[in-house]
Amino acid sequence: MSEKKTKVYCTYQDAPEHYYKGHPESPKRLLSLRGWLQEPPYPEIQWLDFSPATQADLLLIHHKELLEELKLECRQGAHEYEPAPTYVTADSYQAALGAVGATLRLSRKIIRDGRGFGFAIIRPPGHHAEPGQAMGFCLLNNVAIAAADAVASGIGKAAIIDFDAHHGNGIQAAFLQTPQIGYFSTQEKDSYPGTGRLESAPQARGRIINIPLPVFSGNDAFFRVFDEILEPWIARFDPEILFVSAGYDGHFSDPLTTLTLDTNMYYQITQRLVDLAETYCEGRMIFVLEGGYDLVALKDNIQASLAALTGNEKFKDHFGKAPNVSPDIDTLIEDIKKIHQL
Ligand SMILES: [Zn+2]
Repeated sequence: MSEKKTKVYCTYQDAPEHYYKGHPESPKRLLSLRGWLQEPPYPEIQWLDFSPATQADLLLIHHKELLEELKLECRQGAHEYEPAPTYVTADSYQAALGAVGATLRLSRKIIRDGRGFGFAIIRPPGHHAEPGQAMGFCLLNNVAIAAADAVASGIGKAAIIDFDAHHGNGIQAAFLQTPQIGYFSTQEKDSYPGTGRLESAPQARGRIINIPLPVFSGNDAFFRVFDEILEPWIARFDPEILFVSAGYDGHFSDPLTTLTLDTNMYYQITQRLVDLAETYCEGRMIFVLEGGYDLVALKDNIQASLAALTGNEKFKDHFGKAPNVSPDIDTLIEDIKKIHQL
């Protein structure tokens, strides 16, 4: 079998200035990847420079009041604020602008070039940030802004696939009334922030698909959901570009969740996403980092996705196979198919 290698454009921001002692969403999550800037794990990776996002970019999704509030919070220096254990420092607003800018750099290049894969390896993450509310470790919604920007630039329809272990309430809230943008999200049932239930977003049936998975769902459940729900949904929704909210906190070593996925699974679902992007979106896809809080597993999992995106087969896996429990999800799959007429 001949290996097909593909160039992958990447941006990187570890934002050491966005740091709060003892908080799991820390620069340490990415600092161990810094060596990759000089020596990427695959020669097909090409790093791109980027500029911070502009206020006009942010206003595609966020309310002006939120931007003013965030700037004000940053002026008070490092502190935690409600809701949820979110925090800012004096420099967090600038860090958030950088994360959005790094995402837009990739989506705009890929749209301009007509095809290509990208991975924004960035923090702070974004998928919990709602139009008017920063929350859940997220300040600005990187992927939602890029998807809205894609549509504003002439893309007919964009789909966001979110495999983070938590629901991207911010993405859902941003696009409840946006027929050009679809959202597909797997998450651990009843985990933070409690949104993304089976019947949520009734005004967007068939376009916003929520899949609340039981604890210990494991790899098998993900493969079934990707094959039986995601692919037919993409075929029907017919997007021109895929965005992936790539959160790796579903790994079985992660301290925050209990979905029990493993590194090889991230490799395999990325391969399935590559196939979907090639089949339905003329090879346009951008991964955007969300969660992932076991430092060793996060690096392995990002590398596993980069392996699949570049067409390589080898990647590091310090943890091996996940314990296999595989709860019965037949009823869940049937319910989702019925609700969304798939
Ligand atoms: Zn998460």
